[in-house]
Amino acid sequence: MSFTSEDVIHVIQAIAAVIHEHREYLTQLDNPIGDGDHGINMDRGFQAVLGKLAGATGQPPGAILKLVGTTLVSTVGGASGPLYGTAFLRAGMSLGNEMEFGPEQVLALFAAAIEGIQARGKARAGEKTMLDALLPAHEALRAALAEGVGFEAALTRAAMAAHDGMKATIPMLATKGRASYLGERSIGHQDPGATSAYLMLAAAAGLPPEV
Ligand code: ADP
Ligand code: MG
Repeated sequence: MSFTSEDVIHVIQAIAAVIHEHREYLTQLDNPIGDGDHGINMDRGFQAVLGKLAGATGQPPGAILKLVGTTLVSTVGGASGPLYGTAFLRAGMSLGNEMEFGPEQVLALFAAAIEGIQARGKARAGEKTMLDALLPAHEALRAALAEGVGFEAALTRAAMAAHDGMKATIPMLATKGRASYLGERSIGHQDPGATSAYLMLAAAAGLPPEV
């Protein structure tokens, strides 16, 4: 199984659509533990990405992911802009200039994205951030591919693990980002960044999102 620039563009378009549809919801989640801008920030970024994709056909998949990253860094703002921007940049760098890639490279680009987020934001598992969706999703993808599960089913497992990770942020105490200013009052709310991370993985897997 191998993927091309066209596949990458389709996934990015699906992500932009799911973020757009959940713009209000993400913003509602950011109200009690943040400043109510996560949906607005992310939608602005991915709408800008959509505008740039038209000029990107024919470029290698890695270059397209890097373009997504630089666009998110310059348009999203907040904490999530540089974090997601770095994630896509690192993912693109890990693919190099190859015109096609396979499941093992998806696993590697996902790892590179997570490393970028952690290099920039210094968060670990359990701090009530996007990483609480992304880390279990990456682990689920790794385990499924190691078991020999087909790529689509493996990606479905990853999205389901992200869903559980997103829900698991509800009882967590935030110790990074704006939500950490609330201390104990951050407990009992679902993290907006973990939710956008899950939505992206559900879109990549072609699953209807369950938030
Ligand atoms: P801001 O908090 O600056 O308004 P957003 O509302 O766009 O930015 O994004 C908030 C989300 O960013 C949080 O829900 C959390 O998931 C994520 N986040 C914040 N700080 C970090 C960090 N250091 N590492 C990883 N994710 C983080
Ligand atoms: Mg915010």
